[in-house]
Amino acid sequence: MSNKVRTRFAPSPTGFMHVGNLRTGLYAYLFAKKNDGTFILRIEDTDQERYVEGAVDVIYSTLKKAGIDHDEGPDKDGGYGPYIQSERKAMYMEYAKELVKRGAAYYCFCSKERLEGLTDENGVRKYDKHCLSLDEEEVQRRIKAGEPYVIRLNVPAEGVSEYDDMVFGHIAVNNADMEDNILIKSDGMPTYNFANVVDDHSMDITHVIRGVEYLSSTPKYNLIYDGFGWERPKYMHLSPIMKDATRKLSKRYGDANFEDFVAKGYLPKAIVNYIALLGWNPKDNKEKMSMDELIAEFSVDGISKSPSIFDETKMRWLNSEYIKELSEEEFLALATPYFDRSKIKGKYDYRKLAALLHKRTEILGEIPEKVDFLEEFRAFDTDMFFHKKMKVTKELALNVLKASEEVLSGEDNWTNERLQELVGVIAERCNVKGGQVFLPLRLALTASPVSPGGATEMADLLGKEESMRRLRFSIDLLEKDTEL
Ligand code: GLU
Repeated sequence: MSNKVRTRFAPSPTGFMHVGNLRTGLYAYLFAKKNDGTFILRIEDTDQERYVEGAVDVIYSTLKKAGIDHDEGPDKDGGYGPYIQSERKAMYMEYAKELVKRGAAYYCFCSKERLEGLTDENGVRKYDKHCLSLDEEEVQRRIKAGEPYVIRLNVPAEGVSEYDDMVFGHIAVNNADMEDNILIKSDGMPTYNFANVVDDHSMDITHVIRGVEYLSSTPKYNLIYDGFGWERPKYMHLSPIMKDATRKLSKRYGDANFEDFVAKGYLPKAIVNYIALLGWNPKDNKEKMSMDELIAEFSVDGISKSPSIFDETKMRWLNSEYIKELSEEEFLALATPYFDRSKIKGKYDYRKLAALLHKRTEILGEIPEKVDFLEEFRAFDTDMFFHKKMKVTKELALNVLKASEEVLSGEDNWTNERLQELVGVIAERCNVKGGQVFLPLRLALTASPVSPGGATEMADLLGKEESMRRLRFSIDLLEKDTEL
């Protein structure tokens, strides 16, 4: 085995990338980079029930967006190829035969009926090593006669299989509790259990980093390594990411797919940063970290054994931090498709709108709802004008709005700066504070308690004609209301 650290990410091409899987890939990448090692992408497509069109592309594009750059893979030959499991089919049978020769595996000809008969009263079935006793001659005769067979692992009947996991520590499993699993199926194809070991060994993988669901099968994999006389790799198993105390994140709940988060308006960098922290604590509890910082800080001691809970609120916050860092141009480019998807499509000045929204946006997906109100101006509850702390009443609001109408109707230089000056004029005329103009004016123009900007910014965005129309509408509404 090489001295150099070699880790791999071995996703199955399912057509989507679970954020938990992506985190596994990320940790394998961080560990390799941290140790000046090599990070390998291997596509595990042998257990696929059916071919999923474009599924391998999803893996490439996800890794690219996530900034996880593999050193070797199907598209980057490092001399250990092929890197796609289905292209490696021919080699597994040869390896299995070798294992049979070494006594660590054996041919099994048992029929389905016989196997079914081995099921105990609890529905548990364990193979009884029936074919282990067949002699070489009989085995060869039956193979030649065309009898279907599988190749099974020969697990010692007694004793304990042990190893030390880098995260979970000492793991020991009684051999009696393990089954003589199938390594080669009757169609000649390897099972995942076998292919995985052969691939990891022949690709010189030094550290196997993967989900905790493989923790208890690993002693079996070790028996294969031992059977061949191969050096075992080191293992790092990772706890799952949970939706809450009992449920895992899953495709079924629609909360697990990397691409879905991107579509909601999370920046890939923010997703990667967030999932890096799920199950791993940096020493100084730092949160916002670039890929280079993650590589520098990554350490196995910080990996947690307990499951982590996916907190979307926290990821939103992190995302907003990444959004704030974007340049105005970058934000405009990212926001534009969301403007186009909203009710204001093609109207208003996107640049101005983007400037207003930039520092107020947590995820891009909330942009449509933040701007739709611009097109949804309609009768509203005038109680909105009442603001105790600002000492704004409906009467005061009505006065301010009437004065605003007079002052603003004569203005042709309709810019945010000029409008701000005019707010001062209106305040003076009504003998109120600036804030007592800004608040009613903003409400009158937007009919909404929330808006991406203040009164003058909204007026600038709407333009003079539309602003005057809305102002009049709100005055009428208030007049009707205060008469009662
Ligand atoms: N193809 C397996 C999966 O997607 C990878 C298991 C492993 O890393 O060994 O879960």
